[in-house]
Amino acid sequence: METKIARRPLGKTGLSVSEVSFGAMNLRTLNTLGETDDILNYVIDQGINLIDTARGYNGKNKQGEFVESEVLVGSLLRQRTDIDEPIVVVTKGHGYTLDEFEKDLNTSLAKLGVTGTHNLRIGQTDVRIVYFFHGINAKRWATISTSGVLDKIQELKQAGVINHIGFSSHYGDTKEIKAAVDTGIFEVVELPYNIFNRSLGEDGKLNLLEYIYNKQIGIINMKAFSGNGMPAIYRMLKDLITIDYGTMLNFCLSNPYITTVDAGARLVSEFAADLETAIRPRLTKPQMTDLRSEADKVSKHMHNICRECMHCLEKFSCPQNVNFPEILALYARHTISEQLDRDSSYPAQYRQLDIDSEACIECGACIPWCEYKLDIPKMLKQAHQALGSSV
Ligand code: SF4
Ligand code: SF4
Repeated sequence: METKIARRPLGKTGLSVSEVSFGAMNLRTLNTLGETDDILNYVIDQGINLIDTARGYNGKNKQGEFVESEVLVGSLLRQRTDIDEPIVVVTKGHGYTLDEFEKDLNTSLAKLGVTGTHNLRIGQTDVRIVYFFHGINAKRWATISTSGVLDKIQELKQAGVINHIGFSSHYGDTKEIKAAVDTGIFEVVELPYNIFNRSLGEDGKLNLLEYIYNKQIGIINMKAFSGNGMPAIYRMLKDLITIDYGTMLNFCLSNPYITTVDAGARLVSEFAADLETAIRPRLTKPQMTDLRSEADKVSKHMHNICRECMHCLEKFSCPQNVNFPEILALYARHTISEQLDRDSSYPAQYRQLDIDSEACIECGACIPWCEYKLDIPKMLKQAHQALGSSV
């Protein structure tokens, strides 16, 4: 497809991908299946050639229909017969033992509707499947590195079942990220980085983005806007800084080590705005330095809060049915409001929720599923105290 969006080499895969890519996680939050097709068609029509999905990106849309991101992406690619270049489809699974890995991978390929070997297709569309281990952390890496899945995934790549191998990870897992890239097996990684949290980049003890780039591994940048919950938090912070969404995106696009920034837009208008930014000139080094100082004025308010990313619920549900992201997200907004000395309507919102403040039995089962390593039971207690002492 014709595109104004520049392409960058995806490490040493031999692929070139658009410097803005499409994160399909939020498809599950749209109102209707029609809206899903609208955004996906727009993405393809703009020449975006990397779509990032995962086995876990499932949920009920606003009409109450259970939707799976992989199914939606596969279905749209099957409908299109006019795509004249391979689409790079990244998908991810939480299988870290041999059995779970093979089950997850086979399910993903079936849900996407991938056919063939080596020259893979979805319908009439040529695709390149990059299969990821989802969310490597200390525990998962201990399993992955000993369970035999690394040998298995290389065999499957050799057999042409998938085309490339990757992993995603998060802040705080730097040791495991480095260990994984040092194996030499991975060709693409997906990591969080943004103007407010540069800990995996230039603010880290080791600039991991630079380290990975120098190994010729492609880097997909997630959380360029600091996570799903950012809009509400940003509304509170935006009076204090001159950084808007376009600046956040351009900051990531201007990082020389990043291959593509994953924009998880929900609506065509949001993605169109991202693409407008992508064709602007990149930031200069002095501009980036100034923006870092600007961002640091507010970034201290953004630590240790729930971002409503919902990753914890992809493979986990609380045995007590505590909707902890919803409660913690209200708590995050309330905390920031207080820090900024703003009026907070969040206690009132909290009281309207149907919450049993005694329901959490502090079993801790949710903690390993939180990308931000939040002490969820402890924070729930704090949230109940701060927001609903009258409940
Ligand atoms: S600690 Fe509380 S919120 Fe977390 S899984 Fe256990 S009961 Fe659910
Ligand atoms: S608890 Fe953690 S993983 Fe879950 S939504 Fe909040 S920040 Fe995301």
